[in-house]
Amino acid sequence: MKINENYKNLEESYLFSTIAKKVDEYTKAHPEAKVIKMGIGDVTLPICQKAADAFAKAAMEQGKAATFHGYGPEQGYDFLRVAVQKYYASFQVEVAAEDIFISDGAKSDVGNILDLFDADNTVLIPDPVYPVYMDTNVMAGRKIVFMDANVENGFLPMPPKGQKADIIYLCSPNNPTGGVYNREQLKEWVDYANEQDAILLFDAAYESFVADPALPRSIFEIEGAKTCAIEFCSLSKLASFTGTRCGYTVVPSELERGGSSIRKMWLRRQTTKFNGVSYPVQRAAEAALSPEGMAQCREHLDVYRTNAKIMTETLKELGIWHIGGENSPYIWMQCPNGMKSWEFFDDLLAKANVVGTPGSGFGKNGEGFFRLTAFGTTANTKEAMERIKKVYGK
Ligand SMILES: *Cc1c(COP(=O)(O)O)cnc(C)c1O
Repeated sequence: MKINENYKNLEESYLFSTIAKKVDEYTKAHPEAKVIKMGIGDVTLPICQKAADAFAKAAMEQGKAATFHGYGPEQGYDFLRVAVQKYYASFQVEVAAEDIFISDGAKSDVGNILDLFDADNTVLIPDPVYPVYMDTNVMAGRKIVFMDANVENGFLPMPPKGQKADIIYLCSPNNPTGGVYNREQLKEWVDYANEQDAILLFDAAYESFVADPALPRSIFEIEGAKTCAIEFCSLSKLASFTGTRCGYTVVPSELERGGSSIRKMWLRRQTTKFNGVSYPVQRAAEAALSPEGMAQCREHLDVYRTNAKIMTETLKELGIWHIGGENSPYIWMQCPNGMKSWEFFDDLLAKANVVGTPGSGFGKNGEGFFRLTAFGTTANTKEAMERIKKVYGK
């Protein structure tokens, strides 16, 4: 028997375990310190009342023979596919309900989609990056080419001239940088992918944070995207479904490669290896996407937006270079006084009792940068920013 040797090429990630260890050591040595955590990439507000009620009602339905649901369609119930379709329509994006596949979240689908592609493909990935894109391709033994995201390109790399690519990953609004591509930039990417016969894997997990109507929320706002792109999205950040689990992937019927419909291949893959998302979760997702549910979700998103505003205003006042925050829950800042990422982590923890995420943990271009998230409470965010002003103000 032979194991998948590619797993030996995965780099161990010590990022979040090292953070946890350092915070633990600090709080043991300073039990009086009130440490504020701004490193987490998880939401803190609950799923909206409308979704919680629908979830409970559907759970009770499962307890009665007359309303019990067994196996559902692998690609999701029609009621939810139509709800997602309407959600897209709310920002003027037209997608066919049959091209929407319901899943247990974007992370699984981002990994699982690779089932459809040969190992002999060149993959283009930005650096810094959400580690899932890289590790899932290392597992399959694919060749990865990194594109530099840096201050010069606003952490939004553009198609590399002369570089061949088969699979391209873009995440906008971006985790970890908070950078958001505009329509012209995405059009360049779509044209590049179509020219190369490549497939663009577009992660839209943070689309609900886009406040500026001039910025795109979906790759399908871009002309030509339906012949080259697959979009991954999720209710995790939109509706606090990180622990409830529901996402969706849009594979347009127009997308063909190697003489095959990618949508048909994905349907075959899902019906073979996946048995669908639980009925109560799909009912909860439907409720979250209803007008009343969306209004409740928006109240939560507004809290994170308020936090992000408090953070960016503080950094502006201090003259610290940063991006993100306006259309994303992440703020990507340069470490003050030329510090390296981990140096700043230690300094910030010791002097301000604030925890963030060292940028170097997301790739080599992240060195010297730092990620803060707006997912905390507004009171804590204010307090953390006051402390940062005291320590790093001139
Ligand atoms: C949070 C997040 C997701 C969502 O993942 P789920 O599995 O749906 O919870 C996807 N992509 C990125 C970059 C994320 O940060």
